[in-house]
Amino acid sequence: MEIRKDYKGQKGLRQQVLDAGLCTNCGACLNLCPYHTSYQDNTILIDTCDREEGRCYAFCPRTYTDLQALRQNLFNPDQCTPELGPIKEFYMTRAADPEVRRSAQHGGTVTTLLSLALQEGLIDAAVLAEEGKTFLPAGVVAKTPSEVIRRARSKFVVSPNVATFNQAAKSGLEKIGVVATPCQAMALAKMRLKPLPPKDGSIDKLHLVIGLFCGWALSWRELKSLLQRKKMGEDSIVGLDIPPSKHHSMEVHTRNGIMEISLDEVLPTVRKACQYCYDMTAEFSDVSVGSARLPEGWKVARGWNQVLVRTQIGQELIDLARSRGLLELRDIPEGNWEKLQRASVNKKRAAIQNLVQRSGSSQDLLYLDYQDPLLRNFME
Ligand SMILES: Cc1cc2nc3c(=O)[nH]c(=O)nc-3n(C[C@H](O)[C@H](O)[C@H](O)COP(=O)(O)OP(=O)(O)OC[C@H]3O[C@@H](n4cnc5c(N)ncnc54)[C@H](O)[C@@H]3O)c2cc1C
Ligand code: SF4
Ligand code: SF4
Repeated sequence: MEIRKDYKGQKGLRQQVLDAGLCTNCGACLNLCPYHTSYQDNTILIDTCDREEGRCYAFCPRTYTDLQALRQNLFNPDQCTPELGPIKEFYMTRAADPEVRRSAQHGGTVTTLLSLALQEGLIDAAVLAEEGKTFLPAGVVAKTPSEVIRRARSKFVVSPNVATFNQAAKSGLEKIGVVATPCQAMALAKMRLKPLPPKDGSIDKLHLVIGLFCGWALSWRELKSLLQRKKMGEDSIVGLDIPPSKHHSMEVHTRNGIMEISLDEVLPTVRKACQYCYDMTAEFSDVSVGSARLPEGWKVARGWNQVLVRTQIGQELIDLARSRGLLELRDIPEGNWEKLQRASVNKKRAAIQNLVQRSGSSQDLLYLDYQDPLLRNFME
């Protein structure tokens, strides 16, 4: 069937994204109308809508995305780098509070920044991911630091957090912060450009985006069956982690210690849509946070974060956390910047290659513009 790029409503979303296997389950097309929902790690159309243009289509990070327009309108274009997006500063940080560090995935920087933003009234609610039954996460609204700490740690199955933002913005909350994977940060950035006359002021309630670095997410079904095959009971698992690539493994944190599964077995369980993802560091966030690399090795590095500050709001929040003694900083080892750039570029090149293979033409990158001036650096 011919894919019609001129369909810009639900029909276009179905053809170009859902049926094409590009849906990341980010949640941007949910809670806008009664016709779409998220069910067991998939975005489902419950009923058809024949509008020619829709917010679902316009906000989706996998419909045509003008990266240059996002950079120019939302960031300082002079600070936009081809490899890592807009950059003001690069830090290595961790929470000063040992309790936050114990609860968190890595250094607890995300939890610290969100808690501070709530305490200071910079936001009145934060949208985070909550682990659900059998590893199926869901977006959740937290209004206090203790609610934030309870939702710390990474969930490696997608949590449709943008859907929760859409709902929260309609519920009377005025200043909302969102923790977002790169695809979700891209959706929120597209919403900020108000591509269609806004029905309500929802997107103006978005006051902070904390992005997570993201190499890939796992398919919920595949993860469940992998853990069953490995006889790893859900009840004993407290979390997952991905150490640096030389370990070639995924860690399963259980009550009895850490078990490892080879990446050879994990990679086939990655969400298929992630192979078309161009962004590793959540380039459209205020602050992006990921794991750290240190000469002392992963045992120490797992307690720290690498942080990219992208906007003035992000910078002010980090500065406040430092001045209050809530975040500790350490020197960034030589070579870390280049390693991060390389990892990000590798993801960009792989995405472009997969998109070209999919479309059959180097002049058709499906949702991206092959003429984008920064993206062109990574075309063969
Ligand atoms: C799917 C996925 C893939 C990742 N891949 C990489 C990678 O390749 N390289 C890398 O350096 N880092 C990666 N990360 C980020 C890393 O795992 C940590 O989240 C990051 O280092 C922040 O650590 P922290 O201690 O500050 O987080 P915490 O203080 O523990 O806070 C984490 C916050 O993220 C929220 N959250 C958890 N899971 C999700 C989710 N799925 N969607 C949205 N919000 C969520 C939590 O609710 C919490 O608020 C990935 C994260 C995810 C979720
Ligand atoms: S907006 Fe997000 S959830 Fe909806 S179709 Fe696009 S990628 Fe999927
Ligand atoms: S790899 Fe990309 S598409 Fe997949 S969850 Fe991460 S940001 Fe979203």
